[in-house]
Amino acid sequence: MIEPKKDPALILLVEDNRAEARLTKKFLEECGYEVIWVEEGTKALRVAKTQEVDCVLLDLQLPDINGAEVCRWLKGNDDTRIIPIIMLTAKSSTEDKVAGFRVGADDYLPKPYSDMELHARIYACLRNKSLQDELRARNGELQVMLDRVEFMAVTDPLTGMFNRRRFETIVETEFIRMKRYGSPLTCLMVDIDFFKEVNDEFGHRAGDQVLKDLAVIIKDSTRQVDTAARWGGEEFVILLPETDKQAGLVPANRILSSCAQGKFTNLPLGRITVSIGIVGVPDVNIASGERLIDAADMAMYGAKRKGRNRIEQDPPADLLPAAGTSPGSQ
Ligand code: GH3
Ligand code: MG
Ligand code: MG
Ligand code: MG
Repeated sequence: MIEPKKDPALILLVEDNRAEARLTKKFLEECGYEVIWVEEGTKALRVAKTQEVDCVLLDLQLPDINGAEVCRWLKGNDDTRIIPIIMLTAKSSTEDKVAGFRVGADDYLPKPYSDMELHARIYACLRNKSLQDELRARNGELQVMLDRVEFMAVTDPLTGMFNRRRFETIVETEFIRMKRYGSPLTCLMVDIDFFKEVNDEFGHRAGDQVLKDLAVIIKDSTRQVDTAARWGGEEFVILLPETDKQAGLVPANRILSSCAQGKFTNLPLGRITVSIGIVGVPDVNIASGERLIDAADMAMYGAKRKGRNRIEQDPPADLLPAAGTSPGSQ
């Protein structure tokens, strides 16, 4: 069974009849509640907004704004919506009760009420609020977990970059934008040269560090509007919106020279080289984001064939698919 919270619950008593209010306040304090008593609706709103009120006992007839308005305001406000409200009023017709519930009251107690009944109703409201508070806390935790899962689904755990799946979504969106607005779009495929030897010679852990270092180099060599991702083992892919393939040479050269400057930890010479393929669209032979990536991959193989540690624009002619066949990646 869910019990109301252990600290004394804070009850806001809104009552302009002083004799009644004093008696109710005394009784509630004897029951172990903390009580704030106000005589006006405006003061009640101020207290509810600034203090952690657990339950409101609300007289319907007040000297300034009436209890129904106070109730409507508290239930319409995000910060106070969860506070249970028990309407207290001399009126006890069915219409009054219905009107009270309509503006959001959680319970209704006609005057004169017995102290025991008031206590029982407050207890029931607090128990409900505890349940709701717990549910909200659980929902909060669940949201944090969902955000984490969503992040993991699109992130490469080693480098913290986007993964292939996320890149594929982005490339298709950017491709559609390119077609719609005619703005250029360029794709770079970066592959580490002889990476197998790095692993064989210095170990897999050293290899992992090289991948992390290269991820940083790529991030430092591109703009915020660009998208970089880990495409596969030692391959990275970069998308440059609003950029033609000639302008794409700028970040490509930065990456090439940063690698050559030897900033890699765990490698005795601190150096590796990379081969980079660059392809830009619009291009009549490239009809989708997927084909753009394939073409950048082929261009990168062209760079490998020409001796590595270099940049090649466009796929070599012999790697291009023959007319009428469906192009595919390696
Ligand atoms: P090339 O110049 O032709 O690209 O040669 P290469 O050795 O780089 O290419 P190859 O495809 O032969 O080898 C890629 C290596 O990348 C083999 C694989 O063990 C390594 N690799 C793939 N993923 C990871 C990883 O997450 N960590 C480490 N340390 N190595 C990886
Ligand atoms: Mg009154
Ligand atoms: Mg490779
Ligand atoms: Mg390689």
